[in-house]
Amino acid sequence: MRTGVLSLQGAFAEHIRKLRDLGNDVFEIRSQKDIEKPFDALVLPGGESTAMKKLLDATGLLNPLKQLISEGIPVLATCAGLILLAKNIEGGEESCFASMDIEVKRNAYGRQLGSFRCKEHFNGEVIEMPFIRAPYVTKVGKDTEILSVHDDKIVAVKQGRQIAVSFHPELTDDTAVYDMFLKI
Ligand code: GLN
Repeated sequence: MRTGVLSLQGAFAEHIRKLRDLGNDVFEIRSQKDIEKPFDALVLPGGESTAMKKLLDATGLLNPLKQLISEGIPVLATCAGLILLAKNIEGGEESCFASMDIEVKRNAYGRQLGSFRCKEHFNGEVIEMPFIRAPYVTKVGKDTEILSVHDDKIVAVKQGRQIAVSFHPELTDDTAVYDMFLKI
């Protein structure tokens, strides 16, 4: 399986390391020529969603990736990646790929207490969840499955072949999120 990790900005290196450890053939997506050859799955990492949006636009990657997502390529999106997939962003900010029927709140835990770790259920396992200035999901559509809730807030969702989480699974030793992604 060939997995492309969007590598314009943010925590892409940690995803690459983790996926390689799990035996994946992984490559970095930095420009349009990187996606000329076919690939099987896409990872959208954490970082700063506004910066990533600008870079997606500037590199011309926005439309081809949007196309692949709408055609059903499996996607794993973490933190800022979740914001890129959301159809709505609280406050009216412009969406990016808008492929998941969810509304998200950016920097939802506040800027001071924005980073913390907890243990929570994900697909029948209890896993470590590091949050870094994280968003959470405020609304889901009827086709969106809720995978994890922490403190009454939705922090992991699945719609079709897209999995999106508020936290950073690439910064822990748990593999449950990747296991689900690689099964898809
Ligand atoms: N606060 C970032 C944003 O709104 C997301 C943080 C992250 O990806 N760790 O884009």
